[in-house]
Amino acid sequence: MASTTDTEKHPRGLYVLFFTEMWERFSYYGMRAILLLYLIKSAAEGALGLPEDTSGAIYGLYTSSVYLLTLPGGWIADNMLGQKKAIWWGGIVIMIGHILLAIPGSNPIFFLGLCTVAVGTGLLKPNISSIVGDLYPEGGARRDAGFSIFYIGINLGSFLGMTIVGYLGEKVGWHYGFGAAAVAMFLGLVGFRLNSKYLDGLGDPPMVKSKPTFIYVVIGLLLVIAALLVSGVLNAISLAEVMKYVIVTITILYFFYIGMLDKTLSIVERKRVAVLFVFFIGAALFWSGFEQAGSSLTIFADRHTDRVIGGWEMPASWFQTANAFFILVFSAPIGALWVYLNRKKINPYTPVKFGLGLIQMGLGFLVMYWAAQYAVEGIKVGLGWLTLTYLLHTLGELFLSPVGLSTYTKLAPKKYYSQMMGLWFVAASLGNLIAGVFAGNFNEENVAEMPSLFLQVCLFGVGFGIVMILFYKPFKNWMGGIQ
Ligand code: GLN
Repeated sequence: MASTTDTEKHPRGLYVLFFTEMWERFSYYGMRAILLLYLIKSAAEGALGLPEDTSGAIYGLYTSSVYLLTLPGGWIADNMLGQKKAIWWGGIVIMIGHILLAIPGSNPIFFLGLCTVAVGTGLLKPNISSIVGDLYPEGGARRDAGFSIFYIGINLGSFLGMTIVGYLGEKVGWHYGFGAAAVAMFLGLVGFRLNSKYLDGLGDPPMVKSKPTFIYVVIGLLLVIAALLVSGVLNAISLAEVMKYVIVTITILYFFYIGMLDKTLSIVERKRVAVLFVFFIGAALFWSGFEQAGSSLTIFADRHTDRVIGGWEMPASWFQTANAFFILVFSAPIGALWVYLNRKKINPYTPVKFGLGLIQMGLGFLVMYWAAQYAVEGIKVGLGWLTLTYLLHTLGELFLSPVGLSTYTKLAPKKYYSQMMGLWFVAASLGNLIAGVFAGNFNEENVAEMPSLFLQVCLFGVGFGIVMILFYKPFKNWMGGIQ
């Protein structure tokens, strides 16, 4: 069993997971940083030259599927493979996906690559996060601290990936960027395999394995969607519309089944599931604003921001590194702030942190509302606007995301551990889809609408944030004593 020598030190296994996730996020965010640009930019620039609405829908569908597939990915680990094998196979599938993307000149292979990366990430992402929770069976503040360190790994990978893949993709050739993502995942797999001894006794296959009926249903659904797309009954835009409802329905059914129908759970456990549902809504709203980093905000960086520094034009995708950079800078101070407030016994309850996270996301869009007014007049704005937005979004993320991850591992009924982790990422799935579809409104003909589009997001974020803060007491009570 992985153990710690003293209460302060973190288990070695954390660093194995840290680096594996770092390389996985390098590949994910690196590729994602250039994905929308690759879809939108013209064939003359070596890209696909698709219209904004189709590109936004494809981008939204891809990023949303990546996180939606964490549900079957969590199920496979809980019921069949165990987390460790799921991570290993997930990583291999992701690497194959990026290799497919790196093959130039064929759209079907490119889209097959996107699907492959999504399936692999669904297997890897929830399970690597749930093993982090397993490293700290006692839960509590040490588990939170473990997740904060893990979160640094995520963002280190994201920063390096966006910088390197972004540069290669935009300045050298798109497919070199995608190839670099494959190499990164390979490095992650090697590190995971070589150091697997530090995870002994964790994430092993379950004693009693379930029949894969659920997975057959998922595969069946995916085949139906593929058939509808290939036959032209649905296109990317209409599928994205349908997907929103599909995700909301799946989520409600899943929560309803676990919280209401599974009679083996106690009342306390069910109340916790209800709180997780509220956190789900908060997180979905947060991500639908935040995840515009890769969609509308990158379009804004590309078209309306003056990116020339000393005669050299910075790649538009590099803006997205601001988020990872600020996480690296602010993780430790914010972690220390929680410890300090805890000591003073005034550490905000999780629902309040969620509320504050949402408000900061909303304020980031208030900044964009101003910036967009200059853009409407045809002025290319300075680098500061987007940077300030990313700062606010990142601070909001630090209030909400590591806390949410950790809280999900603490409140989840044991039996549904990785699936609950999957549900946390489904909130990101919904958010990403909305963020992608929303970016479809940002075409060059209706630039005038930009300020009001940004203002809408601001109002949603701030509004729901205030609601979460006002109602923190019942939510906190339903957590049943878990901090
Ligand atoms: N940036 C974090 C990650 O990649 C959170 C992403 C999300 O949940 N939307 O894990």
